[in-house]
Amino acid sequence: MRGERSRTRARLGVLAWFLAFQAAAVLPVLLVGLSLQGQLRDQQVGETLRDGEVVAALLADLTVAPGLPRGDLRQASPAQVQAAVSRLVGSPAVDEQVLRFKVWDADGRVLASDDPSLVGQRFPVGEHLALALQGTASSELTTLEASENARERGFGRAVEVYAPLREDAAVLGAFEVYLPYEPLAAALLAQEEELEGDVLLGLVVVVVAIGLLTAGVTTLLRRRTARALHLAQHDQLTGLLGRLPFEALLHRDGLAPGAALVLVDLDGFQRVNDTLGRAGGDAVLRQVAAALSSAPGARHVARLSGDEFALVLDHGDPDGDVGLMTALHRLRDAVAVETEVAGLSVSPVASVGAAPADPAAGAGELLRRAATALRAAQASPAGAAAYDPALDPFDPDSLHLLAELRHAAERGQLVLHYQPQARPGDRRTAALEALLRWQHPVRGLLAPGAFLPLAETTGLVRDLTRWVLDAACGQLAAWDRAGVPTAVSVNVSALDVADRRFPAVVREAVARHGVAPARLCLELTETAIVADPVAALEVLSALAADGHELSLDDFGTGYTSLGQLRDLPLTEIKLDRRFVAGMRDNPADRAVVTTVLGLAGSLGLRLVAEGVETAEQLADLHALGCDRVQGYHLSRPVPAEAAAALLHDEAARSTQPA
Ligand code: C2E
Ligand code: CA
Ligand code: CA
Repeated sequence: MRGERSRTRARLGVLAWFLAFQAAAVLPVLLVGLSLQGQLRDQQVGETLRDGEVVAALLADLTVAPGLPRGDLRQASPAQVQAAVSRLVGSPAVDEQVLRFKVWDADGRVLASDDPSLVGQRFPVGEHLALALQGTASSELTTLEASENARERGFGRAVEVYAPLREDAAVLGAFEVYLPYEPLAAALLAQEEELEGDVLLGLVVVVVAIGLLTAGVTTLLRRRTARALHLAQHDQLTGLLGRLPFEALLHRDGLAPGAALVLVDLDGFQRVNDTLGRAGGDAVLRQVAAALSSAPGARHVARLSGDEFALVLDHGDPDGDVGLMTALHRLRDAVAVETEVAGLSVSPVASVGAAPADPAAGAGELLRRAATALRAAQASPAGAAAYDPALDPFDPDSLHLLAELRHAAERGQLVLHYQPQARPGDRRTAALEALLRWQHPVRGLLAPGAFLPLAETTGLVRDLTRWVLDAACGQLAAWDRAGVPTAVSVNVSALDVADRRFPAVVREAVARHGVAPARLCLELTETAIVADPVAALEVLSALAADGHELSLDDFGTGYTSLGQLRDLPLTEIKLDRRFVAGMRDNPADRAVVTTVLGLAGSLGLRLVAEGVETAEQLADLHALGCDRVQGYHLSRPVPAEAAAALLHDEAARSTQPA
């Protein structure tokens, strides 16, 4: 009995020792687990806040600042700022990212907010706001309460950021924004829960093998942490970097000389999704991701959103655009590889826009420039474009020039010069092309190349066309009265041809001056037709029905198909001067000239050769049966008076006995 009891006691003793030992062993594992979890959480919050600051800075620079009135914000009217900023921040692309926002001036006055009741009120300047007004962004993790005036979805965990609002280098105010925490930290959050399970699992196993385990669990947890971070930074579908880490990388590293920031957007991807389904669309995106990743010189390839990608491209041409353009075209070709998706063969077509390295431009500015280039690429048949400040309506020089151009007509600074189109046989003027000039008070007489592209990107070109039409019709009428009737060609832009109200604009100008429609020819380029063929056909048919001649300008530089040409109510084709320049030395150019002449003949169209600079070219074109010639060899574009003198001369010569 006694022996039994003492054995039991001994057993209990062993058990107690065992339990104590277990507890002692478990404790460090628990501590390691908890500390790693704590570390992960701190790391997660830290990363999320930093990402939030990057997003807020981009929103402030790219979305809010451009909408603010210029100059001192303290003088601004809150109602006006509220209207402008709410429209920008409320746009679908931005709205999703922003829970609440305020725009502050330097005195602590709210100029705009999602909560209209706050607009115009003044508050004491807190620590974060003060920092932002000194030019430094700061942020904190916070919890939003549901509030009556603010948007309904605006509560829960959020990252609150104060970012400086700048105009050039000066801080004008601050942008306070609440970004939803979960999307910023999404993948990290999912991993946090898994981690808790891992700690428990670790505890059970540790009882079996203590020493081994401490090390084992630690590695396990480390790996989880690394994976969680990777997941948070990478797109799940393609494995590419996500938008935030890409932008953060760009902020941190910038671009080396000979590199460019490239944005890639798939053309008509919605159609791919519609016809091939989500799975098909995903397969295409994965293929594009792989093609971009293995393209020569591509680094940091990222998926920004649906079908938009970004990357850093080393093209090795720090001084010129040639290397960059070649690299961009190679990138497009790499994307366009044919693949089989759901039994159909697809070759994705991409538009690519690039911002070359510029030490003076930060990440936000580079992204904005690349987006500007992408828009240009999407509008051009080439599908690729590098950033060009002359085409950038937000470039300070361009902004200034545009502001002046808006007033050029009313200030009497616009003029038309006229260049004769002659019959090659007797060299007599058959018509005159009206070419726009801007007599700039400081820069002198500007050719269209210096201002038209900018006017095109902003739509101002439509007003210019109206002015040109009115001036050309006025001139036609004046020449009628002077006894030298002639015909005039006016250049119209792609935006005009896509505008269904355009025929009415032309009708009005012609009626105002009492000009016969047949004597006004409208010149348009192939790009104008490619952009929106349906609208173009409608507009051109109306113009033709009104009795106008229609001319296809710069022929040979675009991609118009023969079939499209046949469907258009054209009168004339103008062969681009590139082919005229090369026709004597380059057999390929000569072949184009003869082919286009044949094509024009078979379609019953008149052919005008542009850029005739020598007597030899004129003789060749005459021999080949070209209908009209235009170029410096016959006459440069000249002011209306000089053109009139030429018309009078010709009239006098024809009435003289031979
Ligand atoms: P375009 O329609 O192809 O006009 C012909 C251009 O070639 C003119 O340049 C003309 O000065 C130039 N040119 C004429 N003969 C020769 C030659 O023998 N050799 C060479 N190298 N060049 C020659 P400009 O006036 O600088 O106009 C450039 C472009 O701007 C025009 O190209 C046209 O696309 C556009 N443009 C001109 N005026 C207007 C306008 O009123 N409205 C619109 N939308 N575009 C216009
Ligand atoms: Ca023209
Ligand atoms: Ca032309």
